[in-house]
Amino acid sequence: MSVVFDAHAHCFPPLAENSGGMMRERLGELQHHVRFHGQGIRRTRDNAVVTKPILVGEKDGVSWQPDVDFRFGSFGKLEFKHEGEDHHIQWMPPTLWDMSSPAEYIVAQMDYVGVDRAFLQHDRIYGYLDDFFAECLRRYPGRFVTGAQVDEWKGGEPDQLDRLKRQVKELGASALYFSTGGFFHNDFETGVNDESLRPLWELVGELGIPIHWSPCAMVRPIAQDYIRELRELNEWADAYPGITSVLTHGLSNIFLEKGSPDRYRIPPEIASLLERDGWHMELMLHLMAADVEFPPYAEDLRNVVRTLVDDFGAESLMWGSDMPCVERTVTYKQSKILFDTQCDFLTTEQHDAIMGGNLERLYPL
Ligand SMILES: [Zn+2]
Repeated sequence: MSVVFDAHAHCFPPLAENSGGMMRERLGELQHHVRFHGQGIRRTRDNAVVTKPILVGEKDGVSWQPDVDFRFGSFGKLEFKHEGEDHHIQWMPPTLWDMSSPAEYIVAQMDYVGVDRAFLQHDRIYGYLDDFFAECLRRYPGRFVTGAQVDEWKGGEPDQLDRLKRQVKELGASALYFSTGGFFHNDFETGVNDESLRPLWELVGELGIPIHWSPCAMVRPIAQDYIRELRELNEWADAYPGITSVLTHGLSNIFLEKGSPDRYRIPPEIASLLERDGWHMELMLHLMAADVEFPPYAEDLRNVVRTLVDDFGAESLMWGSDMPCVERTVTYKQSKILFDTQCDFLTTEQHDAIMGGNLERLYPL
């Protein structure tokens, strides 16, 4: 039997509890991350859609962020105040009543949907989860693979290197999850090719772990910035050809270029990453086209898969659900439909590789 292995899931404690510390900084980063979120902003009093970009500062970065008392609410909401009025973003599905995603919940969902294993992305907007993830691994052996986290903007400093070593050697992490959204904390002065990060990449090489990349700095203009980040990743990949990598949240241009007839293109910057040995891409297409009525049946997405498989081979592609976030758009079960029933051009081998075989090769049991 082939293994079904989700490249993108999240476990986290109730987010408002501040169990990992640094709440103010984390909320600042999250505010930046969601300021153009596809879910949109609502005025809480009457649930009216607000199109004015009220979370956006004059420039991008921590120094420019408007103070709006941004905070975690309940039932999946992020809450804040603008000109004395309560506003919110329905960031997670409303079923997340206490803003937690415990391991037992994700395992129950995996069992229901028929998912054997899941990679837990370690984005700081969900907290400093080093020890929390270790507990998930301990309680459900074989079900999770976890990414380690560092404070990316100072990732080459000794305390961050020690933190990475502890996560990998003592807490069972199998990869580094690296989000460029972290560069928010120094107003995006750092980039992945910054000299200061060289010790981090050298340590990753020594540890022999893959990196799961999230290029989500989202500096304005955000669609162009994604392409700029992909170019930087190509430059990085030239310097570190031996480090296995997964480009997460693929293909973000489908979301960022919404409204453009070209939104479903494969950017050449992604093509040149996938042509490299050891580079893979997570396909979270159902959320990138969340504005489509039922994304798993979208012909445009089917064509994207066909092009990717034809041009780069199925062995570089990995299905990722983004559970539990996915359930504000489609159910966990439906996030598999595109590959399970809609891409009839896939051979069984290609289908199985995308749905888990490729990740299983990176993280064998
Ligand atoms: Zn996610």
